[in-house]
Amino acid sequence: MCGFISIFGPPESNAIHDVLSGLLAIQHRGQDAAGVVTFHDRFQAKKGLGLVREVFQDKHMQRLRGHLAVGHVRYPTVGLGEDTDVQPFWLDYPVGVAMAHNGNVTNFHELKRTYFGQRNIHLGSNCDLEVVLYVFADALMRRAKHPVTVDDVQVAVQEVFTRVKGAYSVVGITSEGMYAFRDPYGIKPCIYGKKETPEGTFYAVASESVVLDVAGYQVVRDLKAGEMLWIGKDRVPHIRQVGDKPHRPCIFEYVYFARPDAVLDGTSVHAARMELGRRLGKAFRATGLEADVVIPVPESARNAGVTMAEEIGVPCREGFVKNRYVGRTFIMPNDKARQATIRAKLNPIRSEFEGRRVIILDDSIVRGNTSRQIVKIARQMGAAKVYLASYSAPLLFPCLYGIDMSTKREFVARGRTNEEIAKELGADHVLYQTLPEMVDAVRAAGNRSIEFCKACFEGIYPTGDITEQMISDIESDRMAASNCG
Ligand code: AMP
Repeated sequence: MCGFISIFGPPESNAIHDVLSGLLAIQHRGQDAAGVVTFHDRFQAKKGLGLVREVFQDKHMQRLRGHLAVGHVRYPTVGLGEDTDVQPFWLDYPVGVAMAHNGNVTNFHELKRTYFGQRNIHLGSNCDLEVVLYVFADALMRRAKHPVTVDDVQVAVQEVFTRVKGAYSVVGITSEGMYAFRDPYGIKPCIYGKKETPEGTFYAVASESVVLDVAGYQVVRDLKAGEMLWIGKDRVPHIRQVGDKPHRPCIFEYVYFARPDAVLDGTSVHAARMELGRRLGKAFRATGLEADVVIPVPESARNAGVTMAEEIGVPCREGFVKNRYVGRTFIMPNDKARQATIRAKLNPIRSEFEGRRVIILDDSIVRGNTSRQIVKIARQMGAAKVYLASYSAPLLFPCLYGIDMSTKREFVARGRTNEEIAKELGADHVLYQTLPEMVDAVRAAGNRSIEFCKACFEGIYPTGDITEQMISDIESDRMAASNCG
């Protein structure tokens, strides 16, 4: 899971400031690496491993000039990650194109073997964006005329949709314009906006609406599944529907990924989390158990914690203080080290636990490492009972569309009853949201008729083309940590 932003500004403007403030706003979508490519006579790039503020310094601002820019933040992978995989990527020849994406190409290995293998093309990275870039650029180059038209871009997007499988929202620039396309099923988010300034109109496309908010843009709208945008020499936004698949946005964006102040496909993430908390509160009441306090695990569970507590009629309290400076620079070679990281990240406030029956609320339980450690801490702080609650349903299947979740074998809920999970995690009780309740809660917060991708909960992959080979390729990539989108 990654974040991107692309800008098309008035001719004499510089887009770099908006790109960087946008990237800072989506730093939560990726802390592993950051990069920007701009165009001014030629492509200029600055990319590196680390946080946005670590990669970019004042001296880079002078060089990264131009009214066209694309930026990216990369999601943390296991291990250090390769700097050759840092996005955006670009080509100077045969057509000048820069590109960044969020998602995962599920037939990456197959394309490497066939489309690229047969032409004796060797990819320069382990990043699946590279195949999207080559397929796109190749199609654009075959129509090469000047200036590039919306028809040319549409043909190139169509070619990508035909050859490249999976979920990928893409943004980028050429020497004269900005393009974006949302993946055929719209699994990954993609929103566009504009702002009027004395210099002229700026257009931006980004992963989350918060990017547009902080950079002063007004949201125009989310791109639909399979839709593309092109703004070229005429400076007019052209939108075309290229794909014809049903829209299946990722429900985990609402659970965990997106910022609570984001609005995705018309649904406020904050409102969705509040509704998820309310529903789980009702479910807790139905168990007949009694609790004294709800303690959300920061940051994502906070919004839901408030409503869950309201529903049960107990206070919601901050029982853990999160040290936001413990990042992934803290390398975790084994379980013991991972547990130490969790302890360093979340420090408890004893008075919120001592003698109380506590509900610890998290957004999700994946491997169970966090929860096991948190339950242990709660007991050390003298909690009388520890009830563990997850406002999402049990995670059971790997995400093949770009969320680095773990492989099938590692899900704690897989093959276990709730009682067994509680025992495994050391809790007195484990309460999950049911899948229908979870879907209904997110729908209730916005769009009543929306259908989601919920593959990680039920194992049904909406692209319908997932083979065992793809799953094992993606799982071995995860193990080898080459995911980059
Ligand atoms: P685990 O310790 O493996 O059970 O991880 C669960 C915790 O990780 C929860 O607190 C979630 O907020 C968080 N989480 C869920 N999904 C992800 C993800 N894809 N990447 C990083 N953290 C996640």
